[in-house]
Amino acid sequence: MHKIENMVVFGGTHGNEMTGVEVLKLLEKRNYFGKNLNLYAHFANRKAYELGKRFVDKDLNRSFTKDVLEKGGYLHEERIAKEIYDKFSGDNNLIIDLHTSTANMGKSIVLTKLNNFNLKLISFLQNLHDDLNVFYWEENEELAFLNTISPFGFAIEMGPVANNVLDCKIIEDTLVLVEDILDFAEKYNKNMLPNLKEEILLFEGKEYLYYPMDENGERFGYIHDEFQGKDFMPLCKGDRIFKTQIDTNIEYKGDEGYCALFINEAAYYSKNIACCLAKKINVKIK
Ligand SMILES: [Zn+2]
Repeated sequence: MHKIENMVVFGGTHGNEMTGVEVLKLLEKRNYFGKNLNLYAHFANRKAYELGKRFVDKDLNRSFTKDVLEKGGYLHEERIAKEIYDKFSGDNNLIIDLHTSTANMGKSIVLTKLNNFNLKLISFLQNLHDDLNVFYWEENEELAFLNTISPFGFAIEMGPVANNVLDCKIIEDTLVLVEDILDFAEKYNKNMLPNLKEEILLFEGKEYLYYPMDENGERFGYIHDEFQGKDFMPLCKGDRIFKTQIDTNIEYKGDEGYCALFINEAAYYSKNIACCLAKKINVKIK
């Protein structure tokens, strides 16, 4: 029978997201003595955290590419990615990577691998937290997330909270989720999982929506106040999504059936991304 030997919780993967680092400190203070698995709390990018920046040379959470993991690299985050991979990759490890968003993401999971373990874990968590949403974006070489070093696990994304700011409620909610995941892993190892709902709802990421750009390639609009904070809500033709100047609105003209996520995420500005567009899908657990 497959067992989880190690649960590894990462914080500070993005140096300007302080919540994860606080949660690591709280976990260390709890002196967890697992009966049937080891718990590790790993500070992923201390140097970026000390600088208060998302990263030093490049985004660590896009650095777990085949090339970097096989050959290593010269950039700060490439070196860390290789170290993390060498130390923590493997099928017996459960990887939980803690993040925050400036968007109104609430309590959410960012999932890249659809397998029964992950789906059962999500079903277990949603049974305890009915406000927990799941954003699924199929793994690909471009994403190269930290959590992809194991088939098991995902990122937790909490918001809204500004970068380099702590929010007590968000810290506590994150810690509770981590503790519930630990509880799941122990029960999984003992083959003592409760009956779970066999179908779960995911928001599957399909594409990005970009800010309006002028002829010089410069952004000239911002998220409309009517659109701000409307993450996970259905997007309809005619919804006002951008303002260019006061009283100048730009409406949504795309297809129906999408929900917007990560609306006004600070980390997306450098790529001119206004939000992600996702479709609701139901997935059965086998
Ligand atoms: Zn992050």
